[in-house]
Amino acid sequence: MAGVGRKSRALRVHTFPARCVWCGENPAGAARFSVLTGGTRANKISKQCRPERRHILFRPRRSCCAARAGSTVTSHLLPTYARVNLAFERGEGAWLIATNGDRYLDFTSGVAVNALGHAHPRLVAALTEQAQKVWHVSNLYQIPEAERVAQRLCDASFADVVFFCNSGAEAMECAIKMARKFQSASGHPERYRIITFEGAFHGRTLATLAAGGQKKYLDGFGPVVEGFDQVPFGDLAATKRAVTDETAAILIEPIMGEGGVLVVEPAFLRALRELCDQRGLLLLFDEVQTGMGRTGELFAYQRVGVEPDIMALAKALGGGFPVGACLASSEAAKGMTAGTHGSTFGGNPLAMSAANAVLDVMLEPGFLDRVRQTALRFKQRLAEIKDRHPSVIAEVRGEGLLIGVRAVVPASELVDALRAEKMIAVSAGDNVVRLLPPLIVSDEEIAEGVARLDRACAQLGRARRTPRQEEAVR
Ligand code: PLP
Repeated sequence: MAGVGRKSRALRVHTFPARCVWCGENPAGAARFSVLTGGTRANKISKQCRPERRHILFRPRRSCCAARAGSTVTSHLLPTYARVNLAFERGEGAWLIATNGDRYLDFTSGVAVNALGHAHPRLVAALTEQAQKVWHVSNLYQIPEAERVAQRLCDASFADVVFFCNSGAEAMECAIKMARKFQSASGHPERYRIITFEGAFHGRTLATLAAGGQKKYLDGFGPVVEGFDQVPFGDLAATKRAVTDETAAILIEPIMGEGGVLVVEPAFLRALRELCDQRGLLLLFDEVQTGMGRTGELFAYQRVGVEPDIMALAKALGGGFPVGACLASSEAAKGMTAGTHGSTFGGNPLAMSAANAVLDVMLEPGFLDRVRQTALRFKQRLAEIKDRHPSVIAEVRGEGLLIGVRAVVPASELVDALRAEKMIAVSAGDNVVRLLPPLIVSDEEIAEGVARLDRACAQLGRARRTPRQEEAVR
């Protein structure tokens, strides 16, 4: 931020241009304003700057982007998120308890992270036990907990080897590097380009942003990392045309999550596999969102039977603890020798104890069967809701408990209406609201979620009807 900080030991004075941190507007008309922090009480605000500070902390005085985003709170956190003014202090399974005591039905699961819900006893026990032993040792030493997670992931998938990191973007970075390195180690260093699909999302690092190719995320961040060729989603002819002598791999999410829960046709994935085999390319699946049981299979590719060469995982793998993983066949990983890649924290004992606990639960017989049955019932109920509210819901799509409700109204309005019903959901591209309950959600909680969605849709439908239409409905 362009603010200048003048600090004393007890009290710090931060002087900022008097602009909204999001939209740059100057709601109070002052040239600059100051914020005092530190001292005995944090976040003290000097008298003369109080109105401006309020603009940031509470409600803006004039309409500006913060007003449009609803009541947004901020602090000393970089304001890269338009946060809702709601904080949770506890979680229990599929429920989040807000700081004011309100109970929210959590159908976001931390954006597909809390697959076992909140405070799952097995996860709590595993982390507590490991926390009393050793948290971190560095990857200069053997880490038996990581060996065990890797072994279990490989036993359950196409993969032979795993690299652990801390997030989805890092897992994808590893996948991208590995694909290029594979070609180089195979005598084709000129093959470094990767074909990706429009609307994809692969993370926020510079390379993964380039892979996703979305202008809104790339804007202003300088030259785009070279080596990605985007083709329209689902367009096989365009994909074939995009393959050149410089192509190393094709990268795809089996279900485009952020893009709007767009399910890739199995035939398309099969065709990509064939194309890769014919042209000596690697097939990369980004299963950061679809992986770890979300679709009713441990990995979404297993639903289709098309195996990738490299796969990125994260989100649900740690059940809420930050863990990412890049899985690969030993052939695809052949270039990744000692020293070619690394991560300080990746795969440390604490993170791996979380991943092992997640696997303990997910690999239990019947766990994924139950996810599939729950998902089926949920989708049937959602189809009824869609039929009841055609002016609010256009389509229900997705696999397993990765469900997208394409809205007729703006998706953000549906998210807000759900939150008013004490249920949280998250929007995605294509005007979709994602419903991502934890995989341990009960039938009663699904029924409760459906009832809350029904009420939210009814409220939105009512708000959109003219008085005459309202009369007719009655
Ligand atoms: N890939 C996919 C498919 C994702 O959905 C995401 C995050 O939403 C990422 C990669 C990036 O993951 P992270 O935010 O953990 O870096």
